[in-house]
Amino acid sequence: MRAPDGTARYSTAETVDFVIVGSGAAGGVLAKELSTRGHSVVVLEQGPRRSVSDFRHDEKSTNLDGFLLSKTPVMWRQRATEEATRAEGRVWMASLVGGSSVHFTANFWRFRPVDFNERSRLGPIAGTGFADWPITYEELEPYYTKVDWEVGVSGAPGPDDAPRSRPYPTPPLTVKSSGILLERAAMKLGLKPFPAPMAILSQPHNGRPACQHCGFCMGFGCEYNAKSSSLASVIPVAEATGRCEIRPLSHVHTVETDAAGRATGVVYFDAKGVEQRQRARAVVLAANGVETPRLLLSSASARFPDGLANSSGMVGKHLMFNGGAITTGEYEHQLNEHKSAEVTRIVHDFYESDPKRGFYGGGGIDARGGGWLPIAGSMNVPGGMRGWGADYKDWLAHAYTRTMMIYGHTTSLAVESNNVTLDPAVKDRYGRAAARITYEDHADDLATMRFFHARTRELHEAAGAKRIWGDPPGISGASAHFLGTARMGNDPRTSVIDRDHRTHDVRNLFICDGSSMVTSGRGQPTMTIMALAFRAGERISDAARRNEI
Ligand SMILES: Cc1cc2nc3c(=O)[nH]c(=O)nc-3n(C[C@H](O)[C@H](O)[C@H](O)COP(=O)(O)OP(=O)(O)OC[C@H]3O[C@@H](n4cnc5c(N)ncnc54)[C@H](O)[C@@H]3O)c2cc1C
Ligand code: SF4
Repeated sequence: MRAPDGTARYSTAETVDFVIVGSGAAGGVLAKELSTRGHSVVVLEQGPRRSVSDFRHDEKSTNLDGFLLSKTPVMWRQRATEEATRAEGRVWMASLVGGSSVHFTANFWRFRPVDFNERSRLGPIAGTGFADWPITYEELEPYYTKVDWEVGVSGAPGPDDAPRSRPYPTPPLTVKSSGILLERAAMKLGLKPFPAPMAILSQPHNGRPACQHCGFCMGFGCEYNAKSSSLASVIPVAEATGRCEIRPLSHVHTVETDAAGRATGVVYFDAKGVEQRQRARAVVLAANGVETPRLLLSSASARFPDGLANSSGMVGKHLMFNGGAITTGEYEHQLNEHKSAEVTRIVHDFYESDPKRGFYGGGGIDARGGGWLPIAGSMNVPGGMRGWGADYKDWLAHAYTRTMMIYGHTTSLAVESNNVTLDPAVKDRYGRAAARITYEDHADDLATMRFFHARTRELHEAAGAKRIWGDPPGISGASAHFLGTARMGNDPRTSVIDRDHRTHDVRNLFICDGSSMVTSGRGQPTMTIMALAFRAGERISDAARRNEI
């Protein structure tokens, strides 16, 4: 059946080839890959469908009231011995068609070869599940290139980047004041700054316009479709096949299996809260690094008592966030960082882990306004200054246009006790157990954050900042990156999915999203999540054609 706009509509009585749970960074790409390869696909997305006309330059409703954010409760604690409390403001994930790719900042760094085989190069790290990936950069490179061209990326190669088979489709975004200052400071310190790769178009591409530099970017949906979310880029291609139905307001609560242990489809609540069932020949989970393990754990049955695809006991474990270190600087001249996309220049000189530092870890640095919008900007007050009164008002009137942040983005180690489990007490509005995050930073991750904090201060000093503020990080604060909780690996005893994203335990159940990752990268995982999804889509489709699912 077809909707009036020509897109596919399937009845719940039909058995489709694939049901995909989640339409975010990975789910959107999977939908495009599977439907353009001739398969019938239903994508169940818990959030609503929004269009560019719904996205507003309204900091209060978008950032403070969380217009795009998931309202599902998530619990949080540092250690297993502690009582968990609501993770208000600590967990950032969007809930709409396109997922968090709609409101993300769009820093879009490829991994380097070292990200895939660091365990072999550096050896084990005590207390962690530090491991090599079962795939290499070289195997993923063609799919990074697909992301560049099909999703839409701007940039220019950096001095130490991994090899690429095709140039960027669009040149770097116009450099901002923060980019110029970072570039000058880095060169003064003997570092090698270069243009930031961004999932934002600098020129028209694939029928979409270039960035209009509106400045309401991080945390916002793009009103011009210039930000390369899956909603703007690949989902329209999937729908144009006439084989892919995106079904919003559909919250999946169980993956069902038959007596033979095969997935038969999923059960979900529709927009009216009525339980529905979508049958499929294969199920693909792309609900993100928190919601995918939650769904596997809540799909426990007599045959799979510890949760689906969990014979290894690894579902939900090895959660990684990516650390961060931020300092703000006030400058003599106006920078006007409230305009345009966040980031235009980056520094990757500290990307690799260096044994001389005495701890494992690496990362990348950028300079940015940091969501320098009226409310957020006016709350970022230098240490020691009170946030009210005449002094404050004078300072704000002068400094609002003269400040920028320098941001270090860092590795997180895979630690088994950092995990997602089902909360024993708190339930969501459907009566499902909420996800409970337990997360304590590894000592090396904290040392890495402090190392990067010192580098960000040095860069502000070299750039001529008049005043610098921001404390060294104590622990990871809020997170928007949820990685590693259904990790990929060759050994079914230590991983959840194989190198082709098939779960070791259930032949026709696949997982591809942030949970598939084995290491965290240096802070910007989404380029890799999308590349994995292009590769997974191709391999899952090939397996279906060979009757191997
Ligand atoms: C403010 C912000 C800024 C960010 N900036 C960057 C950046 O600059 N660079 C970078 O690399 N990353 C960034 N990220 C992270 C990036 O957005 C995520 O890494 C990425 O979107 C994760 O992709 P995913 O496919 O795993 O999940 P998502 O994109 O989160 O998609 C999961 C989808 O599944 C849906 N879903 C979940 N559970 C269910 C269910 N039970 N039933 C049906 N649907 C369900 C969700 O609603 C969602 O749409 C940022 C994130 C935030 C929040
Ligand atoms: S700054 Fe550019 S990419 Fe970001 S929301 Fe505005 S127009 Fe879109």
